[in-house]
Amino acid sequence: MTERTFSIIKPDATRRNLTGAINAVIEAAGLRIVAQRRVKLTEAQAKKFYEVHAERPFYGELVAQMTAEPVVVQVLQGDNAVLKYRDVMGATNPEKAAEGTIRKQFALSIGENSVHGSDSLENAKIEIEQFFTEDEIVG
Ligand code: ADP
Ligand code: MG
Repeated sequence: MTERTFSIIKPDATRRNLTGAINAVIEAAGLRIVAQRRVKLTEAQAKKFYEVHAERPFYGELVAQMTAEPVVVQVLQGDNAVLKYRDVMGATNPEKAAEGTIRKQFALSIGENSVHGSDSLENAKIEIEQFFTEDEIVG
């Protein structure tokens, strides 16, 4: 089934000029980038986006990292896009990520792990709506 998922290229990656390299992995996996914008997240945006992790010990550091420098927010479209992008990203901890995944190739640490991808179709819809209007998504 054709799905849409939400992706963020995180500050650790934009800082190292890896936007194009990461997009190449995304596209090679058969996912189409149907919306994309470079933006500096406000603290309020980052806090809201990661509010499910508000009680976790790394929340403050995560919000600080996500707002430190610009990110690239994206909508990816393709067959089984949500799970496919989770596979393409690799495990949260890059030491556990499979060969060829974005996080294995580019992540610096479990915190600075280069990309975000939605974990369910339901959350993908919620996350896309936080950053894009329907007319900005050209499938
Ligand atoms: P994922 O991004 O793979 O869905 P989570 O939703 O569990 O992972 O966590 C959200 C983000 O929080 C991670 O991508 C990472 O940037 C950060 N994070 C998760 N666990 C840790 C940790 N133990 N220490 C530091 N940062 C973490
Ligand atoms: Mg997650």
